[in-house]
Amino acid sequence: MKLLRYGRPGKEKPGLLDQAGRIRDLSGRIEDITPATLAPASLARLARIKPESLPAVRGRPRLGVPVGGIGKMICVGLNYTDHAKELGWPLPPEPPLFSKAISAIVGPDDDVQLPRGSKKSDWEVELGIIIGRTARYVSRRDALDHVAGYCVCNDVSERAYQLERGGQWIKGKSADTFGPIGPWLVTRDEVPNPQALRLWLEVNGERMQDSSTAKMIAGVATLISYISGFLTLHPGDVIATGTPSGVGTGRKPQRFLKPGDVMRLGVEGLGEQCQRVVRYKR
Ligand code: ZN
Repeated sequence: MKLLRYGRPGKEKPGLLDQAGRIRDLSGRIEDITPATLAPASLARLARIKPESLPAVRGRPRLGVPVGGIGKMICVGLNYTDHAKELGWPLPPEPPLFSKAISAIVGPDDDVQLPRGSKKSDWEVELGIIIGRTARYVSRRDALDHVAGYCVCNDVSERAYQLERGGQWIKGKSADTFGPIGPWLVTRDEVPNPQALRLWLEVNGERMQDSSTAKMIAGVATLISYISGFLTLHPGDVIATGTPSGVGTGRKPQRFLKPGDVMRLGVEGLGEQCQRVVRYKR
């Protein structure tokens, strides 16, 4: 199942994508897609609905974040060997974690605004995990039972604010619009092996990142188990699992985002995002 939310910001309606790639309106069945919707029993109920029985949505509405009311977004740093290498950093002994402010989260095709003074804003395609069951001290073996589904994330990052402004990384990771999520939440049953997904990102049509989640250092199950040892993961929480090489700061010469640029990115089976880069709005 591919769950999504569509409509104007703050007014999104719940929907799902049918086999033909059409949006079907779920608002006659549920009020919204929220963390509570992601409970296993609730997802099973939705899976029993025949998409053809739902009204088809006309046109191409804006897509919102596929889950409303996300509680937190935890990101993993340096989780691909080639990315650590391009930054010239040693591999960390354990996965570094940081959080992205919830206020940074936007729909998959919304504009990305460069924050005031930004000269080093950068892209990061990532596999996102969306939690469906409360996870606290879970073992690696049980970890995937706590996943509702997966999504595409762009962990947009202002490198100067991240690394040259006295810490912590949140300064460069949490500007408004720096967290596009979507286009949909693809339920776990449709992603039998999350460690075999191609992921890629283009800027103005030029391919910058092209890798596979097979190259992650800590995989999805390890990350959920590891993170749940520090904090409780709740339904609707999102984990961004790290980016492969090909970010702007790792290129020679370095390259950063400017107004008018277009980022297009995707993860195999999870859909694509497309963001126009614009100046900040007050
Ligand atoms: Zn990242």
